[in-house]
Amino acid sequence: MKYYSLNKQAPDSTFKNAVIKGLAPDKGLYFPENIAPLSQEFFDSFDTLSYSEIAYEAIKQFVTPEIPEATLKTIVEDTLSFDFPVVKLNENISTLELFHGPTMAFKDVGARFMARCLGYFNKDNTNEVTVLVATSGDTGGAVANGFLGVKGVKVVILYPSGKVSDIQEKQLTTLGQNITALEVDGTFDDCQAMVKTAFLDESLTREMQLTSANSINVARWLPQLFYFMFAYKQLHKTYKNIVFSVPSGNFGNVCAGMVAQQLGLPIKHFIASNNLNNVVTRYLQSALYDPKPSIQTISNAMDVGAPSNFIRIQEIYKNNFEHLKDNLSSYSFTDEETRNALLEIYDNYNYVADPHGAVGYLGCKSYLENNPDAHCVFLETAHPTKFLDVVEDVINEKQKLPEQIQAVMGKTKAATRIATYTDLKQFLLK
Ligand SMILES: *Cc1c(COP(=O)(O)O)cnc(C)c1O
Repeated sequence: MKYYSLNKQAPDSTFKNAVIKGLAPDKGLYFPENIAPLSQEFFDSFDTLSYSEIAYEAIKQFVTPEIPEATLKTIVEDTLSFDFPVVKLNENISTLELFHGPTMAFKDVGARFMARCLGYFNKDNTNEVTVLVATSGDTGGAVANGFLGVKGVKVVILYPSGKVSDIQEKQLTTLGQNITALEVDGTFDDCQAMVKTAFLDESLTREMQLTSANSINVARWLPQLFYFMFAYKQLHKTYKNIVFSVPSGNFGNVCAGMVAQQLGLPIKHFIASNNLNNVVTRYLQSALYDPKPSIQTISNAMDVGAPSNFIRIQEIYKNNFEHLKDNLSSYSFTDEETRNALLEIYDNYNYVADPHGAVGYLGCKSYLENNPDAHCVFLETAHPTKFLDVVEDVINEKQKLPEQIQAVMGKTKAATRIATYTDLKQFLLK
């Protein structure tokens, strides 16, 4: 598969080059040249196919033959070594739990898939690759865990000081080996801007091979389309009119869902559920795209002022505002509404959600008001104990920490503080 840059000023790329480079030389995001729909037989056979078989078929056209079929099968099986259960709350609302991986956030799948692709491409290569990644919370941990010990790959994670949860911070600052954490005086947008500047800094990229493990990287972004297929596998016999409410920050996840739909998965509609960082909610109301600096909220992984994947969504809909609006709704919720939703989900369904999932639940409720025939699946993108302070405070009940979280709690944080791009550059070059 060839990939082109959405800025259209760079040569087409192979999958391998897109994974290793992250961003095109013209600063554009890479996008697959073609999305060929899968056969009806494929979707009809979901009952008999395993999760790995579904995932392999769905991702194959984007990755082979650069990664041989047999290798890709192994990569997919290794990546998906945990569960993706759908939990039904009522006749109209279910949740798809994406938090059963090693760092208990949905980003584990993309990070593990990308790490294995990069490991494959790097297997005979003596040039070290440095993965540079900005995190608003969960990316850092998932990438650190996914890439831990991968040969020939160093990982440098930038995170906004004081703006990630304690557990998230532990997950990205305690692994050691080939993983380094940089604690940035600033917001997530500042971290993301520094990473972008680094990729474009020739005096740096002459010295080292940099790549990104944010959802701008196609190998991090595309595997997220699996989730929508996994939910469909579990629900299609019971419900028609399946819609997905995706708690959104950089819009990589919802955009991957749209790729699944392009592949032929019968998804009726998407809902991008936002906290007060709501540039897309406002865009769908006004047709005016007006990014604002990010605001800190209790669903911090969605505190993104300028979502980097929105341009990919625009590409899928060929910049046609009406077509986009037909297929995507977006709602925005305050922290207070999110807390109330956490409590409502707990009281009504005896289910403990996390703040991001709670925003997704609210998106379902808003959509269902006018679309009572739909079955809305909100993605539970992180385990509730990753946001222990908020969750325990709201539902007023102590939570038991899962093994994966307990394992990092006692470890000592190791991070280097930086404030500016110059600090970052010095750190990378030393
Ligand atoms: C990253 C993240 C999101 C946002 O996902 P995007 O693909 O950036 O839109 C939502 N919830 C959690 C818990 C996350 O870690």
